[in-house]
Amino acid sequence: MTIVLLGPPGSGKGTHGKKLSECLGVPTVSTGDILRQAIQEGTALGKSAEEYVKSGRLVTDEIVLGLVETRLGRKDAARGFILDGFPRTVAQAEGLKGILGDRTLDRVLNLVVPTEVVVNRLKDRWTCTQCGAIYNTSTAPPRVAGKCDKCGGALQQRADDQPETVRKRLEVYARETAPLVSYYEREGVLRNVDASGPAADVYAAIQRAIGKAA
Ligand code: AMP
Repeated sequence: MTIVLLGPPGSGKGTHGKKLSECLGVPTVSTGDILRQAIQEGTALGKSAEEYVKSGRLVTDEIVLGLVETRLGRKDAARGFILDGFPRTVAQAEGLKGILGDRTLDRVLNLVVPTEVVVNRLKDRWTCTQCGAIYNTSTAPPRVAGKCDKCGGALQQRADDQPETVRKRLEVYARETAPLVSYYEREGVLRNVDASGPAADVYAAIQRAIGKAA
């Protein structure tokens, strides 16, 4: 199955992408995770992306399309994939068509959530530095503060979750990414999912939207 998760920062793309990946047995490809790892490792990709990611601006379409093409060319993506955080511009959506060739997208899930909810979620978001598991200190806290339940790794807050950068990311989303909602509506693959409630309710709605029983 081929799925795109669309939605503003904090709408739950990472959380639900990981769960869906386990359920469907296909990899999640998160361009944000790939870029953060490259930055941490100090690779050439990381060096060219660092300033953009830190300031909440979009990395160039050319860079992102290159890394998606490489990742989707790997064997584990042959049966399907979940794209989290990509495409983010109409040019990237067009580029994705070229990368997919004869393959098509089964579903584009638009996670709909009000701005005040995402701002609150991002303030409390903590991510495992080792396995990438996502926690929320008010709605889904780890059992031991600062420690991942799954692997024991240290939890940290993302630098770009600071309120000033979050505002910038939301602006960029509204301007560059929101037009993809009507783009994929025209393609007939878009499903809107109310993502404002508790994670379990949102995940059940996602399963319904892809035709899997909750
Ligand atoms: P995310 O983890 O999806 O919130 O992405 C974090 C940051 O990585 C974004 O604010 C951008 O700077 C960069 N980024 C991630 N995905 C893309 C993309 N598809 N196009 C451009 N920049 C991206």
